[in-house]
Amino acid sequence: MSRKNLKVCIVGTGYVGLTTGVCLAGIGHDVVCIDIDEKKIRMLKAGQSPIYEPGIEDLLKVAADKLSFTTQYTDCKDADVIILAVGTPSAKSGKADLSYMEAAVTEIVNYLHGEKFQVVVNKSTVPVGTAQRTEMIISSILHKQNRQANFAVASNPEFLREGLAVHDTFYPDRIVIGAKNTEALNSLRNMYAPLLEQTFAAPKACPRPEGFPLPALITTDVTSAEMIKYAANSFLATKISYINEISGLCEKVGADVTEVARGIGLDKRIGSRFLQAGVGWGGSCFGKDTAAIINTGLEYAYEMPIISAAVAVNKRQRSRMIEKLQESLKVVRGRTIGLLGLSFKPDTDDLRDAPALDIIRYLVEMGARVKAFDPIAMPNCKAYYPELAVEYTDDVLQLASGCDAVLLITEWDEFRRLPLEQLAERMTGSKVFVDGRNIVDPGVAQEAGLLYIGFGRSGYE
Ligand code: NAD
Repeated sequence: MSRKNLKVCIVGTGYVGLTTGVCLAGIGHDVVCIDIDEKKIRMLKAGQSPIYEPGIEDLLKVAADKLSFTTQYTDCKDADVIILAVGTPSAKSGKADLSYMEAAVTEIVNYLHGEKFQVVVNKSTVPVGTAQRTEMIISSILHKQNRQANFAVASNPEFLREGLAVHDTFYPDRIVIGAKNTEALNSLRNMYAPLLEQTFAAPKACPRPEGFPLPALITTDVTSAEMIKYAANSFLATKISYINEISGLCEKVGADVTEVARGIGLDKRIGSRFLQAGVGWGGSCFGKDTAAIINTGLEYAYEMPIISAAVAVNKRQRSRMIEKLQESLKVVRGRTIGLLGLSFKPDTDDLRDAPALDIIRYLVEMGARVKAFDPIAMPNCKAYYPELAVEYTDDVLQLASGCDAVLLITEWDEFRRLPLEQLAERMTGSKVFVDGRNIVDPGVAQEAGLLYIGFGRSGYE
């Protein structure tokens, strides 16, 4: 496939926008990243990443001559492709709040013109109909301004995982493009050609996995593309909630959910990923995307009982953590409880909808003294809960010191190799260890002197 380098403008330089920006620059395009957050842009101009994402700072250096950062939309001028990657958080109703999207769209219109074909791409996760609405907003503004532009709107949902964002962008399973306009489709196919054909030189910070197969390109209509993203996230959230529901029954009947998950996961129709029972999912996407798809259903008077149940089970898992603490400690008030891990998953500083946030709040409300340790996310937690008296510590041993119970919330790799005996030595009372991710060997923990409690693990519930 012959290809040319494009001028790409990315609006919204967060986890998705920044990663997309550095990777597209890394494969040769000229990229401008725009954000309204001046602090973010200042940091990026100084070569620092405002988010913790492995590999991203190296790539900022490597792709520096192809990449620029600005708060000025004027830099969208002459872009071949304008990618919208702003946040689409949940409104109170559960619907996706599209106000950031619409604000961005009204700005970019000023830089659409008739001199060349330009594609506006919805990369943010947005409900069905948003591409059509984006087109309508643009057309009506152009009409008011008595101008014309040669543009099309496409949907190109993003599937990267935080903590692996750079990897997932360079080496995706698939790229989905929803467009009714062939020129738009061809432009995006051209933009992604180096990824689709894997012809780019793999960066040192993110080498190509051995035997990596070429990514699939799915070209479809915009509505199906918009649905694919919500269907994917709802499915993943449901898979986790499914094993969590099974884990509760394992506790009742005396089975071990880790064995059950292994036994079912080896069936290729099921697969072993997303079958780890524990305190449940969190993050910026699953909660808001399940809420949004349920809401889309409601607009059509169509209930989605499976996804609704997945949400309810997930909420129950966070409460189960507290119940396990109550069952083991009896009285929680006045006890010292340590949280191992705060971010919603390892290798990220992202705290959005992290189980740790609810758990901290429950514990404080119950009158416990709360200590915490996370390798990366502590500054974000301090900023999120400035009013709560959480004691942040420097390492796992300082965390354990004086704790009646330690709750493992995030499966950071270093927590898989905890110095359990030293932890137990520093703890007090019955030395409860609640493993919210089932990553510690119960026998080894008991031997070290801890009262081990897992999720759905026979004899250790
Ligand atoms: P984010 O909050 O990290 O980044 C959004 C950025 O947009 C912020 O920096 C914000 O300042 C900026 N912004 C808001 N309004 C703006 C405007 N009018 N002009 C310019 N910049 C503006 O969000 P994110 O995690 O990158 O998510 C972005 C979208 O991608 C969401 O729809 C999300 O659901 C989707 N998504 C996220 C992930 C993920 O893992 N984070 C994965 C796939 C899809």
